[in-house]
Parts: sequence; C-alpha cells; structure tokens
Amino acid sequence: MVLEAQGKPLVERELPRPELQPGQVRLRVHTCGVCRTDLHIRDGELPGPKLPLVLGHQIVGTTIEGGAAFAAGQRVGVPWLGWTCGECRYCRSGRENLCHRARFTGYHLDGGYAAEAVADERYCFEIPEGFADAQAAPLLCAGLIGYRSLVLAGDPGRIGLYGFGASAHIVAQVARSQGRRVFAFTRDGDDAAQSLARELGAEWAGDSSMQPPEELDAAIIFAPVGRLVPAALRAVGKGGSVVCAGIHMSDIPSFPYELLWGERVLRSVANLTRRDGKDLLALAPRIPVRTMVQTFPLAEAERALDSLRAGRIRGAAVLVVEE
Ligand SMILES: [Zn+2]
Ligand SMILES: [Zn+2]
Repeated sequence: MVLEAQGKPLVERELPRPELQPGQVRLRVHTCGVCRTDLHIRDGELPGPKLPLVLGHQIVGTTIEGGAAFAAGQRVGVPWLGWTCGECRYCRSGRENLCHRARFTGYHLDGGYAAEAVADERYCFEIPEGFADAQAAPLLCAGLIGYRSLVLAGDPGRIGLYGFGASAHIVAQVARSQGRRVFAFTRDGDDAAQSLARELGAEWAGDSSMQPPEELDAAIIFAPVGRLVPAALRAVGKGGSVVCAGIHMSDIPSFPYELLWGERVLRSVANLTRRDGKDLLALAPRIPVRTMVQTFPLAEAERALDSLRAGRIRGAAVLVVEE
C-alpha cells in the first residue's frame, strides 16, 4: 500500500523488489502496526517523506534472504529507527535517537505496509516468544516510545497518561508492574478508552479537561494536542515532569509561568535507541504485557488510518498480511 502524495489515500501497487544491500535482510511481513506518526505523514503534518513511500514502522516478519545476525526464517521486528551515522556527537554519546542523519522506517525508508520489506539488520530486534505476530507489532513503536517516555518521566509514584491509545495501554501495564499509580486522561466523554484504562490498572480515568483527584508526580502526553501541555503542568506537583511523546503536536497555548515554576520539567521524547528496544522487548514478556489489537487486512490500510484518526481504535491498530 503506497503513499504517492501526502494528503492522498494509499493505493495498492506492485513495486519492484529492491536489490538487497550488504547488511540488509529481506522479510516476509506478517503484521505491521499502525502508528499515529503514519497518520501525520499521510496527512502532510510531517514534511519531507520519501515519495512514493511505503508507510509502517512496527513490522513483524520472518527473514527470507540476507543478513548474518538472524537465522533464515527467524521472526524479527523492525522499528522506526532504521539507520544512524554512528559518527555524529549524538551517535557517539549513546543518543543515536537524535542522530543528525538518522533515517526512519516508513518515512525515509520504505516500511511495512507491504507483503515484503527490506531492513538493515543492525536495527532489527528479535521478537520474544509468547507474542503472536499481531500482538507483537504495537510493542515496536507504541511500546518503545511509551517505555522511553516513562523512563524519562523520572521515578514517579503517580503517573498521568494523556491520550489512552496504543502507547498508553502498554505503558499503563509497565507502570503498574513497577508499582506506580496510573491516572488516565482521554478525549472528553470517551467512555470506551476510560473503561480500557481501568481494566489495565488505572485507578482513575477521566476527561482530559478534568483535574485528577490528587496531584501527580509526572505526566506523559500521547495525544497530539498542544492545550494538554498547560493542563498536564497544572496536574503535576512541584518537581514533576511532563513528557510529550508524540512527533507532532498542535501549537501549545501560552500559559502563566507559575505552571512551570517549582522545578517542573517540560520535555519531549524523540525516536528510540536500540537500547530502548532491547530493554522493552526483554521486559514485556516478564510482566507480561498484553497488547489489545484491532486488525485490518493490508488492503484496508486506509480504513485503519481513518479509524485511528477518528479515535475509534481500542488499543492498537495492526495490519495483517494474508499469505
Ligand atoms: Zn549520528
Ligand atoms: Zn510510531
């Protein structure tokens, strides 16, 4: 399923099989998670994608050709971070997520809304057993970015999650397993998301326009909505952190300095490192994380994106490639 121009629906196309470069693996794609970033690229909110482009950066597939790190037929996952330079000051200081020349899967490189995909094996992960192909896919971005956000939120006893979609439904489980208290904020009146949050261990779930019943130690904002920034700053206590996890957000309204005063920290999270991937994929089966997915056939990628845009996905949307 190919994006030929931003703002236009994906179209089904037969593309030539890419020549395999040294260090690359060719995968038969089984599933590919649908991320809000895919929607931002498709809708033109993120500039400069490769075009035409195959979207998708939560790929679960098996190797069919190439590579040395994985056995033939092994199940691997391909995340958003597709290549880094290894030389810039970020790469050399353990922050490859900020690499100046990073290339991202399903943005600069063709991704997994396809029957086959090619990836640099150094950026692929082994998928833990115990996760079916559809359930594993959301770990690769929703899970990873959520996990990185939780780590960067510090060590909060009480954590607020704004936007209870694919990422938050995984982070809530990780946070609960670490003994944290979870507070979930959704679009106003989204009873389905609020009940899912409670099922997954949130002790409180409510509208994002509401104040939580008590002060929070940190909050993560997954929804791409700038007005949630002052709302979340208002909800956290002195010394608390607010982490913006999305790649795109509407403008943040101005707010009084007193919301930031008291050593509150406001920061974003960008991309992932391979370390984040290894850490989460080792942790997920031990908890164990249970991802909730809504599957769509590959050919219905547009319908999956529409459902995500409309807030109709419970948990995560995943495309399934028929054999
Ligand atoms: Zn670099
Ligand atoms: Zn993503």
